Amino acid sequence: MSLKIRSYKQDNLSLKKLNTCMVVAAILISLVLFFAMSRTSSMYDEAHVVTEEIKNYETTAYNLQTASDYLTEQIRLFVITGDKKNLDNYFEESNITRRRDEALEFLKAKHGDSPAYPELQTAMNGSLVLMVMEYHAARLAVDAYGYNLEEYPKEIQSVRLSDYEATLSPQQKGDIAKKMLFNDEYKRQKDFIANHTMNCLMQLEKEIWEEQAKVSDNLKKTMFIEHVLTVLLIAILLGIVYLTSRLVIFPLRDYVDLIREDERLPVTGADELRFLAETYNAMRETNRLHQEQLTYEATHDRLTTLYNRRGFEMLLDNLNLSNFAVILVDLDKFKSINDIYGHDTGDKVLIKVSKVLLDYFGDNGHICRLGGDEFVILMENATSSIQDQLKKTIESINQWLRAAHDGLPPATVSVGVTFCNKNTDILSLLKRADEALYDAKEHGRSAIRFDTPTAKK
Ligand code: GH3
Ligand code: MG
Repeated sequence: MSLKIRSYKQDNLSLKKLNTCMVVAAILISLVLFFAMSRTSSMYDEAHVVTEEIKNYETTAYNLQTASDYLTEQIRLFVITGDKKNLDNYFEESNITRRRDEALEFLKAKHGDSPAYPELQTAMNGSLVLMVMEYHAARLAVDAYGYNLEEYPKEIQSVRLSDYEATLSPQQKGDIAKKMLFNDEYKRQKDFIANHTMNCLMQLEKEIWEEQAKVSDNLKKTMFIEHVLTVLLIAILLGIVYLTSRLVIFPLRDYVDLIREDERLPVTGADELRFLAETYNAMRETNRLHQEQLTYEATHDRLTTLYNRRGFEMLLDNLNLSNFAVILVDLDKFKSINDIYGHDTGDKVLIKVSKVLLDYFGDNGHICRLGGDEFVILMENATSSIQDQLKKTIESINQWLRAAHDGLPPATVSVGVTFCNKNTDILSLLKRADEALYDAKEHGRSAIRFDTPTAKK
């Protein structure tokens, strides 16, 4: 008997497939999540850098205003006090420090395409216009204080006074110079510079806001993607827990219980478990059939297929033996049959006797071959009232066995019978039946005898 198990192939959802899918999905989603998080971080860094840069431009742009104010301050001080040091400061700022020029150049180089740059350039132009007025005032002040013009920078020297100015006294020149630096036109020009510098700063401020709004918008989108991916990861995790429970843990738990109870396993769960269940069921079935075969062979006679002595003992354990008859049957002079016709013919006679016993007693009795040419029939629900019927049956059997219609030698049986109630020891019953049988043998064989006193002849 061989095991019939389907070859292992993955028809359904296998642990291997499941595992591969889950691992691939988890790796993909983790990578995307990692990418999204890195992107968020780099976007934040980028935004920070851009904001810092724009703030830097603001500081630079503001330098133009500061430098312009410084020039105004120094030229005014010179005109009012006549202190040459202020004029030196003025030219140091405009020609050496050059904060205004550097601010403009820096913004042009770094952020020249922004609308902030033309604003700063306009402010610078305004400052240059103002310088023309300042040179003029300084030129008048030089005359007013009676300084030697040749000791002053060429920008001052190159200023041409009008004919009217040339005729004025030093006091008048000084007054005009002061007026020039404090009059409405000068203030308007200062406002012009301040307004355009402010426009430039506002534009840069606006760019900071725009940049931050853009980053914030992108951050929102990326965060949304991150949320979706996180939910997906959680779903995959829950899916793994659910599928592992359904496909592995629950079936395994049931399998353990069922194996303990020696039951068949239901073919469920992952393909590997289904294969295990099928294999176990096939092995269990093979084992059961082997066991049945062994039990059958141990309890049955090979020649006649009737119960043997062990089978007889097993029957005694399992049958409800109350009110039953023990019928012992023994072939008459069977040795002679063996001697005259041979052992094989003897075997055929034994088979023939077993068949005829089955024909007559098979429906209401259990027939066993105890050994040699001796048979026993256990007949349930039988009392001594069936004695006559039994006699007739045995006569019929002997009649049939005597007629040599199948090529076998004629044979007869002798029979000893005893009836019993429950709680009777089987060995003593067999002994009583054997005594009755002996009686039959003694009285010419081919006969039936009962162990009850009334039955004895
Ligand atoms: P009796 O009428 O007194 O019973 O005489 P008997 O010759 O039948 O004597 P007994 O019952 O003691 O002999 C049984 C014989 O059955 C002895 C043995 O050679 C023979 N025998 C036992 N088992 C087998 C078997 O399996 N096959 C065959 N052919 N003969 C067997
Ligand atoms: Mg015999």
